Amino acid sequence: MQQARTPTGIETPSSGFASPSFGTGTLTPSFQQKQRLGHPGSSARLRDLEEEQRDPKKKLLFELLKLYSPNDIRSIQEAIVKHAEYSLARNRYSIDDYVACEAAALALRDRLLESWNDTQQYYMKKDVKRVYYLSLEFLMGRSFKNALTNANLEELFAESLKELGFDLEKLYEQEYDAALGNGGLGRLAACFLDSMATLNIPGWGYGIRYEYGMFRQKIVNGEQVEVPDYWLTRGNPWEIERLDVCYPVRFYGSFERLADGRALWTGGEVVQAVAFDVPVPGYDTYNTNNLRLWKAVPFKEFDLDAFNRADYYKAIEAEEKATAISAVLYPSDGTLAGKELRLKQEYFFVSATLQDAIRRFKKIPRSMNQLPSKVCFQLNDTHPVIAIAEMMRILIDHEGLPFLEALEITRGCFAYTNHTVMPEALEKWSVPLFESLLPRHLAIIYDINFNFLEEVRKKYPGDDGKLARLSIIEEGEVKMVRMAHLGIVGSFAVNGVAELHTKLLKTQVFPEFYELWPFKFQNKTNGITPRRWIMECNPSLTQVISRWLESDSWVKNLSELRGILEHADNPEFQREWSEARMENKQKLATLIYRVTGIQVDPKAMFDVHVKRIHEYKRQLLNILSLIYRYQHILSLDEATRKQQVVPRVVIFAGKAAPGYQMAKNIIRLINDVGRVVNNDERIGDLLKIIFLPNYNVSLAEQIVAAADISQHISTAGTEASGTSNMKFSLNGGLIVGTLDGANIEIREEVGEENIFIFGLNAEQVEEERKKLNPSYVLNEKLAKVLEWIESGTMVDAKKHQPIVDSLRGGKDWYLVGADFESYLQIQEEVDRVFRDQPERWLKMSIHCTAGSGKFSSDRSISEYAKDIWQIEACPCPEPAFHADGHDNLS
Ligand SMILES: *Cc1c(COP(=O)(O)O)cnc(C)c1O
Repeated sequence: MQQARTPTGIETPSSGFASPSFGTGTLTPSFQQKQRLGHPGSSARLRDLEEEQRDPKKKLLFELLKLYSPNDIRSIQEAIVKHAEYSLARNRYSIDDYVACEAAALALRDRLLESWNDTQQYYMKKDVKRVYYLSLEFLMGRSFKNALTNANLEELFAESLKELGFDLEKLYEQEYDAALGNGGLGRLAACFLDSMATLNIPGWGYGIRYEYGMFRQKIVNGEQVEVPDYWLTRGNPWEIERLDVCYPVRFYGSFERLADGRALWTGGEVVQAVAFDVPVPGYDTYNTNNLRLWKAVPFKEFDLDAFNRADYYKAIEAEEKATAISAVLYPSDGTLAGKELRLKQEYFFVSATLQDAIRRFKKIPRSMNQLPSKVCFQLNDTHPVIAIAEMMRILIDHEGLPFLEALEITRGCFAYTNHTVMPEALEKWSVPLFESLLPRHLAIIYDINFNFLEEVRKKYPGDDGKLARLSIIEEGEVKMVRMAHLGIVGSFAVNGVAELHTKLLKTQVFPEFYELWPFKFQNKTNGITPRRWIMECNPSLTQVISRWLESDSWVKNLSELRGILEHADNPEFQREWSEARMENKQKLATLIYRVTGIQVDPKAMFDVHVKRIHEYKRQLLNILSLIYRYQHILSLDEATRKQQVVPRVVIFAGKAAPGYQMAKNIIRLINDVGRVVNNDERIGDLLKIIFLPNYNVSLAEQIVAAADISQHISTAGTEASGTSNMKFSLNGGLIVGTLDGANIEIREEVGEENIFIFGLNAEQVEEERKKLNPSYVLNEKLAKVLEWIESGTMVDAKKHQPIVDSLRGGKDWYLVGADFESYLQIQEEVDRVFRDQPERWLKMSIHCTAGSGKFSSDRSISEYAKDIWQIEACPCPEPAFHADGHDNLS
């Protein structure tokens, strides 16, 4: 029930789950007790309006603004039908699923905008400190179900649509994934948005509104084919174009230093950044935050010159050039393309974002020195690190501050998250490129570097080697700007994303920075939002958990999941657990059949390896071990096969960067091996190898709920954290993994007897790699597997030679060979438990879910808020509750 409100309605945000009054029965209690039925206006909005009310001319406006969209079935139905006709211009007598989906989304958006406006107004009124999460990627996936769940309106919308003849579940399928990201880094940003809103943290996301998101992957003859992802074909009901919010962004040109210390940057090209806002509703709270994405458009006044000379085409060219900036997401994950357009994208979104944040800060007159107490920018990897130089430029050139003061303010506002230890992914830009594109910023970076190296010199006199290693500028034939160094020098906090990763940052990647500023470095282990990654994607298991915990408060407080351990031995609970999981496996089997035409048995072990295709993630280790398994099964007589072999369905999915040839080779190998195995009658159901094309968030949601086991087998020391390991574990899938990234912490939480760990650890990897040389001896079983590949059993075996060559002759950098034997052994152990100890397997599954509480992004965000941002929750009061929809606030 809605809580009674205090007269001001501000102090106690509603929390319908705080004091659950569920009985002890096993039936699912109705959690839908919190719908906001017609309400007359939030107190925040009202109290502002009360002042205006005295103006008689505004009395009518006041009356109207009090109205919020009522949440009853009839009103929702009216909203849907009206949107179909008035917003979408559809004939009201021919509404199909697509139109119904769009119209229902718009009806929901109306409601989101109310809480969104109220929340923003409330933050402004309270003058709260804000965090801005700057990320070049937001891998949002679909929004409809998420927004309905968070606003607790799913049942009402389902019922409303049902009466109109539509199935909400089917409408969900109509929505296109917003794939404005590559993989884990972009998905993390999306999970963090959900948690910031849910925890009532005044936090906005800022990024780019790419016209083309992550490419769509097709598999043709076993190979990846990339198809452009024009995700806006049918429009996007979740975004609001803000033509009123736009800023100029300059590139190229030159600058001159003025006598007062400022510089004047002129010439070059100017484009305009236009804001698109996407409401981000929190779960079980009224707070709705914002994701602001920038689109590049030509600057109106810019090419007036061309128009004056009647050079129509030149003006159009300028338009093309401008829109190119936000046209396409770079589909490389963890590698640097090094393209000028990429640096342009980075500066474009960062410049618009800082202008926007500073404008908001300045709405209240105050000194720029206060900025760090009101604003924090969290930099998601090095991509937005140029923001540090841009802030300096604004403070020096626009605000007229002296260099040192500007540096202190800047350092007080920025925090940098590192996502990788791999050198090829640490962004570096050539100085000549920088000088041409951002001349003023290069000069500022030189000034920051000079100041920084002075500090180093004082601390370590005469150590030129150290200066060179720490410098933001890398010397060489072509000088380079090291963006990670700029990130560390210009921020007050630097964090890794799992304990091992942070340790490696301190000891291997940036040891000298750590020595200089140990206090800057900290760990913030990644997390995932339990709303999307269990509640929405796994309703069957969610129901079982809520029923046995007699509450669903665990969705907001995930460590409560430990409570299910109490029932781990209860046969009734176990039965429900297996049934829920089997239901998901059945659904996935249906999807596999629909997509690939291959029939799989839901009772077989579902063994999943889904993530970006990368050598370090070692899909290669998996597929090579499957060749071994295939050979092994064939070597058994039929009776033994039947008796011993555990039927497995191995499911791969993942995209390769278009320019990453070795990753594409791996995809082809998986598909070619699959073709041989799946068509070998001797094998039958004992082994199926499936490659599901176009891995994205929506596909992940279906796979995550249905895995018996999932593979997180990166070479130890290479995967910063991983987040899909958390998704699987939360849903009761067991993990086969190396001692890498967050696997280590998952092991701590679920218990080492509930996870299948194998292989070298990070230290051993370091040692083993030293041994690599041309006469390095490859594991014998792996050598046999490579010979099978060369034997020509698969069509066109020569295509696979580059893979074989990449492992022989001491070139096996990711140590597929060194871990091969222990990988085969752990897989045997997996088979053994699945086959001989089904009850133990089931309990392991329960333990995985029970131990996943730590990996909620709510926990990650609470830690960021407390240790880095120093920001507290600011719950926005809900509109007062009135079932009759009438105003009685007086
Ligand atoms: C979670 C997720 C990832 C990250 O997977 P890892 O295995 O942690 O690399 C990548 N892509 C999608 C679509 C995801 O949902």
